[in-house]
Amino acid sequence: MSSAVESQVLNAFPLDLSQDRYAEVPYEEKARLFEEVKTDIRYHDVLYGCYECGICVAACPSARFYDFSPRVIAQACAREDVELVYTLMNDSIWDCSQCFSCDRCPRGNSPGGLITILREVAVRNGLQSARDALEGYGRIIYKIMSTGTQVSPDMLQPDAFPDWGTHVHEIAENLEVWRRALPPETLHTTDIGWDVDEKTMIELYLIWHMTGVMDMIKEVDEGLFMILQDVMEERLEDAGYDDVTFD
Ligand code: SF4
Ligand code: SF4
Repeated sequence: MSSAVESQVLNAFPLDLSQDRYAEVPYEEKARLFEEVKTDIRYHDVLYGCYECGICVAACPSARFYDFSPRVIAQACAREDVELVYTLMNDSIWDCSQCFSCDRCPRGNSPGGLITILREVAVRNGLQSARDALEGYGRIIYKIMSTGTQVSPDMLQPDAFPDWGTHVHEIAENLEVWRRALPPETLHTTDIGWDVDEKTMIELYLIWHMTGVMDMIKEVDEGLFMILQDVMEERLEDAGYDDVTFD
């Protein structure tokens, strides 16, 4: 399918910016969420106002394929349009690929950075849009948090990726040999990307705990939180951190 046709297909489902969809949500709740966005320490570094020039839209890859506009998001926040910001937090912000091409904004804004803050507030407050957007990532989060790596060599399955070419068969069949040929010993692994030592894993757990990442996961996926909690608490206890809990 050509990219032009693909774009038309994706845009056949236009973004509904009418606020009627969220009329049942009290204005005070929407205002509270926007206040949380504005009090983020990064907010005044990512939004200085908006010329409405559209340069961010021209640079944005997501705007080419989705009914999505970083300009609308920057404008809604600059105008303090509480209702529209709430609508965008429930839909549009999840179409951003966080590439930061929009950082070329002549006003000095970072619409991508603004979207990061909006997403974090959506996650912290357990908005349904955040739950929906993150639903497919549970396994990835689990893998990162339990092994310290995201993609493992044994995922290189020829049947799953036939477009990678015939040589993939040979590599997959002799994966252990190929991996042992790599110079750093930490890469002689097949079921994880590389060996992450115990000290690094403990540091990661403590960072996730202290920066509120675990609280965010708890808000959007209670089941995943409980699994991770077990994995981490056992590891921390073994390392002598008896007093750290993820409740
Ligand atoms: S960070 Fe998001 S809004 Fe900015 S250019 Fe990339 S996809 Fe578009
Ligand atoms: S590039 Fe900057 S000033 Fe222009 S529309 Fe986007 S956010 Fe507004």
